[in-house]
Amino acid sequence: MCGIFGIYSYEKENVTKKIYYGLFALQHRGQEGAGIAVSDGKGINFYKNIGLVTEVFKKDILQNLFGYIGIGHVRYSTTGIKSVENCQPFVVKSSLGQIAIAHNGDILNSEELRLELEKKGHIFTSTTDSEIIAQLLIREIIKTNDRIEAIKNVLNKLVGAYSLLILFEDCLIAVRDEHGFKPLCIGEDGENIYISSEDCALTTLDVSFLRDVKPGEIVVINNDGMESYTFKKKNKVSTCMFEYIYFARPDSTIDGISVYKVRKEVGRRLAKEHPVEADIISPIPDSGNAFAIGYSEESKIPYYEALIKNKYTGRTFILPSQNERELAVRLKLSPVRSLLENKRVVLVDDSIVRGTTSKRIVNMVKKVGAKEVHLRVGCPKIISPCYYGIDMATKEELIAHKKCIMEIAKIIGVESLGYISIEGLLKAIGRKDLCLACLTGEYPTDINFIKVQNR
Ligand code: SF4
Repeated sequence: MCGIFGIYSYEKENVTKKIYYGLFALQHRGQEGAGIAVSDGKGINFYKNIGLVTEVFKKDILQNLFGYIGIGHVRYSTTGIKSVENCQPFVVKSSLGQIAIAHNGDILNSEELRLELEKKGHIFTSTTDSEIIAQLLIREIIKTNDRIEAIKNVLNKLVGAYSLLILFEDCLIAVRDEHGFKPLCIGEDGENIYISSEDCALTTLDVSFLRDVKPGEIVVINNDGMESYTFKKKNKVSTCMFEYIYFARPDSTIDGISVYKVRKEVGRRLAKEHPVEADIISPIPDSGNAFAIGYSEESKIPYYEALIKNKYTGRTFILPSQNERELAVRLKLSPVRSLLENKRVVLVDDSIVRGTTSKRIVNMVKKVGAKEVHLRVGCPKIISPCYYGIDMATKEELIAHKKCIMEIAKIIGVESLGYISIEGLLKAIGRKDLCLACLTGEYPTDINFIKVQNR
């Protein structure tokens, strides 16, 4: 999971600062690195580094980037190395000029494509899929002498999940893979066209939402306006269900469906599927909040914020190493003793992956005197890894992979445990064309490729 944001300014205004604000609004999608590439119509200038958006882009760096077309990226790494080379946008020079690429997702056959290119003499400077896409694109443009044809040819070679922004010196191109795994939307304010991973970034910039980029669509924005192309006709849409449950900000709307509404509805359904007698309900903040409100409304058990979050720490799930994740839990949550002492407590969380975080939180709540702890979870049991750009852990590390509910409840230390059912989740989201591979083990694409590295 990463965040991408792009702008084309018809007034030829400098778009750097707006991209910076857009990335700031998408910071939840990746906290390891950030980058911006801008074109003034003649050449591409860029800066990227490890860190949060505000750490990477100091005032002097922003002042030195000028361009009226640009793209930005916030990076979330899975198993890849934390290095500036792996930050995006990825910029390549060729006899045709420069191209910059920002990518959200994971290309499953990237190792095969990399080996093919290496055999033809390409030398890679990073371990990112974006560099492979960029190199393939240059080859195809030289061959076809037609950018759209070249992009279509490259996309037809890729297997996996990708929402892409491609910056040429004179145009901006947005692509969403044929499955529509990752969200991507378009905004406009009369002077500029915006492309963003989530519409929350458009709202931040006071930009009107125009529409979502369709699965299998290429959107080209240049001086002549905006044009749309389809690159794969036969497709089975399978948008990531986890975007609705965890990744996206609750104030975002994905493919016409409000993330906040979905989470609240999941909470309501959880209360019906797994009722319990209790004194208070508390979310595990922040992503458990809307679920807990829904559960409270349906069950009539009062809602309290009994765990206080230190807002200045990152999201635990997207910190890359287990050690960092463990420390992050202790740093970020603190129980309110007066609310929890001698109470039967329902804790509501978005998901359980390894179970280590849940166990630690339950332990913390019991230590301050909670009489009973009942855990309710807004995502069904995660039993299989994600190959589409989400670091969910290996199959063996997933607590629900081989264990039944009773066993998981015992390990975590709760009196009862209830997950939303897959059926309940689908009804709450209100669409069926979703990827559920980590819940079912049935993947919407071929997954039998060598995969050594990742973003
Ligand atoms: S496997 Fe799970 S996390 Fe990965 S894309 Fe599919 S639904 Fe999303």
